Amino acid sequence: MKVGVLALQGAVALHVEAFEVLGAAPVEVRCLDTLDSVAALVMPGGESTTISRLLTTAGLFDPLARRLREGLPVMGTCAGMILLASRVLDGRPDQRCLDAIDIDVRRNAFGRQVDSFEAALAIDGIEDGPFHGVFIRAPYVDRIGSGVDVLASVAGHAVACQQGRVLVTAFHPELATTASGGGDLRVHEHFLNLASS
Ligand code: GLN
Repeated sequence: MKVGVLALQGAVALHVEAFEVLGAAPVEVRCLDTLDSVAALVMPGGESTTISRLLTTAGLFDPLARRLREGLPVMGTCAGMILLASRVLDGRPDQRCLDAIDIDVRRNAFGRQVDSFEAALAIDGIEDGPFHGVFIRAPYVDRIGSGVDVLASVAGHAVACQQGRVLVTAFHPELATTASGGGDLRVHEHFLNLASS
């Protein structure tokens, strides 16, 4: 499957690597032609205000919103989750959301950069033990629409959700490691299964 990784800003490289290891065909998305060619998309972590602005200046915001409405499978991590939400609380006034999943999110909800943390997560649909969640100025989900499944929570706040073929995580799955120190690709694998379902 040709999986796009939106590559305007943020944590792109390790997502590309993860999909290569899993045998998918990842491609970095910076322009409309490439966006049109992918069968699934990852929106990485980074800075949601910047990615929102770059999506607009690259002429990608509206075409991406249309593809998402048409059912393009998408995984949004951290800033990507913010961009896919219906509404962002504590956003910048000019920040836009793609409204691909019926949740409201709060930016930097767990605190500032120094409050970044790691947590062992039980994620619904991910087998074989806890997943190492790396949270960097992470958002959490403030409102959960009725059609949305919560897959994981931290301190009572949803940090992984799924609605149809839209998967969002407040943490960075591309930074997760297994006990033996290798990359833990279970969330990427889950997304590939979802995207091809
Ligand atoms: N706090 C960032 C934002 O608002 C997200 C941080 C991240 O993606 N690691 O976009």
